[in-house]
Amino acid sequence: MTQINIKSKFLGGMIGGALGDCIGELTFRYGNEKTLLTQVAKKDIIRYTDDTAMAIGIAETIITTEGNWTTQDLGRIFHANFNEEPYRGYGSGPPQIFRTVERSDKNYQEIASQLFGGEGSFGNGASMRISPLGLFYYDNSDIYEIAKKSAVATHTNPWGIDGAATLAKLISLLVPKQPGELTDQQKNGILDELIEFSHTDKYKNILKRGKELIQQNKSLKNVERIIGSGVLAYTSVPFSIFAFLYNPESYKKNLIDTVLLSRDRDTVGAMVGGLLGAYLGIEAIPDEWIQKIENKSYIENLTLKLLELKKE
Ligand SMILES: [Mg+2]
Repeated sequence: MTQINIKSKFLGGMIGGALGDCIGELTFRYGNEKTLLTQVAKKDIIRYTDDTAMAIGIAETIITTEGNWTTQDLGRIFHANFNEEPYRGYGSGPPQIFRTVERSDKNYQEIASQLFGGEGSFGNGASMRISPLGLFYYDNSDIYEIAKKSAVATHTNPWGIDGAATLAKLISLLVPKQPGELTDQQKNGILDELIEFSHTDKYKNILKRGKELIQQNKSLKNVERIIGSGVLAYTSVPFSIFAFLYNPESYKKNLIDTVLLSRDRDTVGAMVGGLLGAYLGIEAIPDEWIQKIENKSYIENLTLKLLELKKE
């Protein structure tokens, strides 16, 4: 197999995530494989949701600041993008934060930390958008702190942060790997590394439990029943990690199987699609699907700018 280069990995991670979001969103209406594939084939454009809109926001923030960004910079870009396209299916948190920022002198993080009675959100919103960050900082040993800096613009709860950081870490581990490289032993090694890397007992325990279930050859459906795949980060983030590891060598089959048995389908699609793309590269993603992604050229150009900045 030819060596997959970093450009292919960056494009795979970004486009793979956007496509996962688009296809995942469609499965809410077309809930079996046959009708889903028929509908995707029929459509000229498939639309993305908040997951991709916010991933775009992270990429834009890194690019416009040349990598020197603050949580506040990121919050401003999320906010401006939301005002321009409020119809992207945002959860309740971000709009509430943006509206409050508009009429107070507090920053995004301060407002975000007041949500849910002062606990901050532990939804999967900080995780769903993390692909560009995991790609850009794949060789940076501070990736936990960088992911945290991005998460707290909207999600300040340690469980919300841990999801984003753990997923960013996995993307970073996949960038240097080549397709076909993930043996069972390597997969175990990756899970051990993520267990060590995550900060909260919640994630450490769920990742350990998932590792056992995989070793017992439980089906992904079974894993979903046990750990869930909904809007809480500590369900859908580990689920997306396990789903990726179940069948990492096929973008199409993995994505379709995974979204169809998950609950928060656009977000699980965005997360598992980003992982598959970062591992397999853009060549592994069906081109007839790529061509249908809304604003595909913009996402591609943004990714190439991210790569250019990385190489400087
Ligand atoms: Mg969404």
